Amino acid sequence: MEPFKVHILGCGSALPTLRHFPSAQVVEVRGKLFLMDCGEGTQIQLRRSRLRFTKISAVFISHLHGDHCFGLIGLLSTFGLLGRTAKLTVYSPAALATVMQQQMDTFCRDLEYEVDFIPVDTMVQQVVYEDRSLTVETIPLEHRVKCCGYLFREKPTLPHIRRDVADFYGIPVSQFDNIKAGADWTTAEGEVVANSRLTTPADAPRAYAYCSDTRYIPTLHERLKGVTTLYHESTYGEDNHLRAEKYFHSTAREAAMVARQAGVCQLLLGHYSSRYEDEQVLLREAQEIFPNSLLTDENKVFDV
Ligand SMILES: [Zn+2]
Ligand SMILES: [Zn+2]
Repeated sequence: MEPFKVHILGCGSALPTLRHFPSAQVVEVRGKLFLMDCGEGTQIQLRRSRLRFTKISAVFISHLHGDHCFGLIGLLSTFGLLGRTAKLTVYSPAALATVMQQQMDTFCRDLEYEVDFIPVDTMVQQVVYEDRSLTVETIPLEHRVKCCGYLFREKPTLPHIRRDVADFYGIPVSQFDNIKAGADWTTAEGEVVANSRLTTPADAPRAYAYCSDTRYIPTLHERLKGVTTLYHESTYGEDNHLRAEKYFHSTAREAAMVARQAGVCQLLLGHYSSRYEDEQVLLREAQEIFPNSLLTDENKVFDV
């Protein structure tokens, strides 16, 4: 299968600590790199990740809280220093463009690449990005400011050629695309080899949902159909349930409820409050509801 990975750059919440960086992830799909949120320190974490981060083609910002976008101006400036010429597209709630333009006019006057700010409507679920192999949808979330998550869906792929059967019948490689598209094969002797013998089924499409800051939304799973890996913030444990409600955040237990309702394969936890010295308590509470819950951590990489 083609690579579809999530590289965790930061999984802490707003207050800086020595244990975690604020929110940032890189989604890697078939050689393309997309940055999800850009908290302070994202550049350092990109260096550590050993990703070829100058290849990042788009940035998706979930909302305008500093722990999700304070790193952006620094990154834009660094791309300039590194001689970037390729356009960078930034998807975000509308207000970001104005804020960033002011900073760019001051700090990034000589950029030799274009930064294209695309405002997204955080209230509706809709496709905002599409290429040959992928779509990205917004996911409306409920936070103290306009906020949305992003859902990366692979497009369905074609079946695989069974090389042993193809070689047996001496089928030329030039015919493989036709066979992947469903054609049978007729031998020189007139024998028809059914397509089902020539191929194995395509890989099931994978999907990754990045649900950044949000309070628990009981209907969120309805927007997550087909998601295989879900990241859902889990700022607090049950001991801070009221705090989660007050600040429009979720507990690990609530994140796990969304994962269970959505029927995903795995749940990634993150956006940990600095009041937890050890996130194992969050993991335990999540796993009671959804066993395949995992703690994210800086520099960890997950397959979707
Ligand atoms: Zn946050
Ligand atoms: Zn926030």
